[in-house]
Parts: sequence; structure tokens; C-alpha cells
Amino acid sequence: MNKNARGSLAIISGPSGVGKSTVIAEVLRRRPDLYFSVSFTTRTPRPGEVNGVNYHFVDVPEFERMIRDGELLEHAQYSGNYYGTSAKLIDEKLEQGIDVLLDIEVVGSKIVHDQRPDTPLMFVIPPSFEVLEQRLRGRNTDSEEVIQRRLSRAKEELKEIYRYDYLIVNDTVENAAEDVLAILRAEGCRTANRAYLLKEE
Ligand code: 5GP
Repeated sequence: MNKNARGSLAIISGPSGVGKSTVIAEVLRRRPDLYFSVSFTTRTPRPGEVNGVNYHFVDVPEFERMIRDGELLEHAQYSGNYYGTSAKLIDEKLEQGIDVLLDIEVVGSKIVHDQRPDTPLMFVIPPSFEVLEQRLRGRNTDSEEVIQRRLSRAKEELKEIYRYDYLIVNDTVENAAEDVLAILRAEGCRTANRAYLLKEE
């Protein structure tokens, strides 16, 4: 969008099963210039997930090597697995003036925000907790134990909402994507993000 400036970073969080991936897919369809950061994880791929598209799937020793070598901007554990964002991959895009979207959980979002406080934080919630449970079960990919772990983590995560700048209710994918697009657009218009327009020749 802002070809003459550094790209901007934005974060989306929300409990597992809230439908973030679907909302993000719709946002990307309508903003193909956005770069969605593909995270690294030690979780096993779900049916249909593709390495390098949904995640970079790596084993624990490789993930721990990345931590040791300082390759990750942030990382966290979620439901017994590691998740993390490659600093190099996103900084390359930001340098090129490309806006970058991260889908990361609450611990990782705090780490990024502490380092880059101008990063807008968006939190996606379900219309109700019951809907979240239905969606997690409807996915038909996780065991009861995993579902219970994810539901209790969701309750913990909801307590973090007040740290977030924006709250998005995923009642329909279209509404939620519309909200995200409006926020990204407004953030792009911030004077700080448009300072390059004011530079004297
Ligand atoms: P899932 O296993 O359902 O794909 O993702 C579980 C959680 O991990 C989600 O809340 C998602 O936002 C989060 N997540 C995905 N990638 C990253 C990452 O790179 N860093 C962090 N901190 N969380 C991530």
C-alpha cells in the first residue's frame, strides 16, 4: 500500500476455534497486497494443512535451535506445542514496504507489542462461548482432551482482551473481515505511518 515507506505490522489473536483463519483468508482475498506471516510450529499438521502454507511444520529440536539462534521474533507454547514467528521473514517484507499480518496467541502478541508498541492488536471473539465449543467440536480433528485443553486456554485468553486495541466479533466471516479491513485502513492513515508523504524534496 505505502510503497515509499516501511510496511506496517498488525496482530490478530483470538481463541482456537474462533474462526481466525477463515476471517484472515477473506481479508487476504480482499487485500492481496498484504503478507500473512506463516508461523513455525511443532504441532502435527491437521488434515488438509500444507507445509509452508498454513505453517512451517518443524520438530522440537529444530524449533529449539531456532530459539537458541535468535531467529524468532517471538515464540510461545500453546496446547503442548511450540509456535513462533520468524523475525527475518517478516522484516524482509516490512523493509520492502509490504504490510504484514500475524495470527499469534496472547503471549506472543505481548512480546511483539513490547518490542514494537505501535503494532495494532486485534482480538477476535466468538458471538458466545457455546459457539466456540461447537466450532471446536465441529472441526472433527481434535481429541476430547485437546478440545478441553483449548477451551480452558480460551477462557484464560479472554482475560487478556483489555490489552487489545480492537475487539472483533466473528458473527459472520464477512462482518469480521470488514472490521479487520477497516482497522488496517485506518491504521495505514495514521500520521506516523504517512510521514513519508510529508518529507520535503
Ligand atoms: P492452531 O494450533 O489452532 O493452528 O493455533 C493455536 C494458537 O497458536 C492460535 O491461537 C494461533 O493464533 C497461535 N499461533 C499461531 N502461530 C503462532 C506464532 O507464530 N506465535 C504465537 N505466539 N502463536 C501462534
